[in-house]
Amino acid sequence: MSTAVVTGGGRGIGRAIALRLASDGHAVAVNDVDKATAEAVTAEIAEAGGRAATVAGDVTDRDAVFGMVESAVAAFGSVDVMVANAGIAQVKTLRELTAADLQRMFEVNVFGVVWCLQAAAEQMIAQGTGGKIISAASIAGHSGFDRLGHYSATKFGVRALTQAAAKELAPHGITVNAYCPGIVDTAMWELIDDQLGGYLGTAKGEAMKQYSQLITLGRVQTPEDVAGLVSYLAGPDSNYMTGQSVVIDGGIVMV
Ligand code: NAD
Repeated sequence: MSTAVVTGGGRGIGRAIALRLASDGHAVAVNDVDKATAEAVTAEIAEAGGRAATVAGDVTDRDAVFGMVESAVAAFGSVDVMVANAGIAQVKTLRELTAADLQRMFEVNVFGVVWCLQAAAEQMIAQGTGGKIISAASIAGHSGFDRLGHYSATKFGVRALTQAAAKELAPHGITVNAYCPGIVDTAMWELIDDQLGGYLGTAKGEAMKQYSQLITLGRVQTPEDVAGLVSYLAGPDSNYMTGQSVVIDGGIVMV
């Protein structure tokens, strides 16, 4: 019996991952800072016959993250998979960034991932059964994107953390990997599209269309496209993979 915690699981990519892992047979502890959305996804999983519990909370709060793992263990007996998916984006040039912008971006996308790594590792080591830690990076973690410089820096950071954690946790049978989506049709890209519009002078939807020209496969990515990779990273077929930040983007950034 395997239990997965999915942060930012209330919508978008996190929701698709939570639903997919549940249908793969994992019990899923659904986290989000927006409790109502996490509860809705928990209910969706239960209605489909899966096992789920809500573990709401803010990933920037270390104690809250350790509490989420505790609650998941209380509900299902273990934590075997941690998906540190929660993240935020903001479009701004580096010249415009304030200390608050930079701080917030790192608090969620880097600090949040570290707290998830720590809480999951402690639990998995105590269980003695190994585990899988999976984090959200991005194509912006492989190539620095203009007007998304601080976002890109956090995602390069996730790749570094993934590599270091893979080495530190291998002796405990824990693998650590990341997924790097491209342009996924979620609320995050709605925000990016809107904020980019201010720079490009484009109307709603136009910036996303322009950026989508870069996609080799010729269509925008769905959250389910990402969830398929995470299903693999959470399952036994990826047992020999660690330290990798795998791009799944329809062929925008080829590494
Ligand atoms: P989204 O904004 O649609 O959803 C993110 C979810 O995380 C929301 O439900 C939000 O409430 C939650 N969240 C935000 N801050 C949180 C916090 N502090 N604690 C707990 N939950 C929090 O985003 P998405 O598009 O689904 O992206 C998910 C992840 O994938 C992010 O890490 C993002 O950077 C990454 N990603 C997204 C894309 C894309 O094109 N959408 C591309 C590459 C990488």
